[in-house]
Amino acid sequence: MLVVLAGLNLGAVTALALAGLATAGPGAAGLLTWAGRGAGLFAEVLIVAQVLLAARIPALERAVGQDTLMRWHRGLGQSTLAVVLAHPLLLAAGYGGAQVGGFLSQSWTLATTYLTATGGFLLVVVTATLSVRTARRRLKYETWYAVHLTTYLAILLAFGHQLAVGHDLAGSPLIALWWKGQLVAAAGCLLLFRIGLPLARSLRHRLRVVSVVAESDDVASVYLTGRHLDRLPAQGGQFLVWRFLHRRGWWQAHPYSLSAAPSGDVLRITVRAVGDGTRQLARMTPGTRVIFEGPYGIFTADARTRSRVLLIGAGVGITPIRALLEELPRSVDVVLLHRASDPSDAVLVDETRALVNARGARAWMVSGPRGQSADPDRPLGPNHVRALVPDVARRDVYLCGPPGFCAATIEVLRQLAVPDNQIHHESFEL
Ligand SMILES: Cc1cc2nc3c(=O)[nH]c(=O)nc-3n(C[C@H](O)[C@H](O)[C@H](O)COP(=O)(O)OP(=O)(O)OC[C@H]3O[C@@H](n4cnc5c(N)ncnc54)[C@H](O)[C@@H]3O)c2cc1C
Repeated sequence: MLVVLAGLNLGAVTALALAGLATAGPGAAGLLTWAGRGAGLFAEVLIVAQVLLAARIPALERAVGQDTLMRWHRGLGQSTLAVVLAHPLLLAAGYGGAQVGGFLSQSWTLATTYLTATGGFLLVVVTATLSVRTARRRLKYETWYAVHLTTYLAILLAFGHQLAVGHDLAGSPLIALWWKGQLVAAAGCLLLFRIGLPLARSLRHRLRVVSVVAESDDVASVYLTGRHLDRLPAQGGQFLVWRFLHRRGWWQAHPYSLSAAPSGDVLRITVRAVGDGTRQLARMTPGTRVIFEGPYGIFTADARTRSRVLLIGAGVGITPIRALLEELPRSVDVVLLHRASDPSDAVLVDETRALVNARGARAWMVSGPRGQSADPDRPLGPNHVRALVPDVARRDVYLCGPPGFCAATIEVLRQLAVPDNQIHHESFEL
């Protein structure tokens, strides 16, 4: 339904842009102006699509999972930036009569005449530039996120500009209504699913920390309880975005997977300290209140297509795998590969082993240095996986760990002829 609506919207915008050709001025300048106006229309549609992809719409999230939605959101960002850049540049070229001098003076005139649009344009450019992977890695997550939020202001400024001066929207109340409808739909989804639903769930379940248990020097499990947890639609393998309301970090929200299947009255996460947000968790006191978003993710027992399953967890990526071990039906034949740089570094080893034994499954601890060599005999390389799990191609494979590990292991699974629809993965990066 959503895909059909998006397709219809795109078709209608294309028709509107093409209709503008009929009234385009003569020559190259007329064509450039027409293309600039079209770019403005498409820029807005792409921005609305990006907002919708990031709005945590439950139907979309259930269909493809949040990591895929975020990948599409990021991918669309590049096209959006290109079209946003093209809009004023093409208009300046068209208004300037396709002359270099005219282009420069028209650029200045446009930038200083349409100040709100210029503000929105600059905000989008800054955010998109900072979202490029290399720039993004240098920023603290919270700084990048705060900058990213300013795009909502940019969208409002750009919409206002379009409705006030948009050539293709002027003169038709129906088209202007449709245009406003897009903004209302995007804003409505954001308010409903990113603010309303999380607040309602947080108020309903009133989660609080019961205890924090050290699993090792740098890993801790946080146990949480609340009201009506049996009605929280959470499954083993899913993650939530948690905001712990303690003095040192209430402004940060971080995604963590459930490290045990929800029991109806207790939830648990297990976290490795890698930065300020994760380090503070180990020092939380019982009673700390929690606001959360989610549960999210399609990395669940429901994704299974076969009666045999291979689970692969690397590092702290064992957490959702551990929860899945509990939730997969007993009839399922399970093999577990637990990857760690060193066995002493592995997380939740004893309880994972107990679950494996209880269901008569098989498990191997695979250790060795991190990083991916090209050696086919490397730990979890093709030869190694084939030797441990000869029937791997006939299994669903659930895989969780750092992004580099997941990408390399998916490659290995494809070499071993595991079909893509049998590979389910969660990488600890959105
Ligand atoms: C779906 C998912 C499930 C996860 N589950 C677990 C888990 O069960 N156990 C566990 O130990 N870790 C898990 N992580 C990783 C965990 O979210 C990060 O380690 C944590 O957010 C780092 O925060 P920090 O402030 O300590 O570190 P920082 O030094 O601030 O960041 C370290 C890395 O984490 C990323 N990061 C920081 N904050 C966020 C955020 N709010 N959202 C997304 N990425 C962020 C940063 O971009 C950076 O790459 C999960 C991540 C994802 C995406």
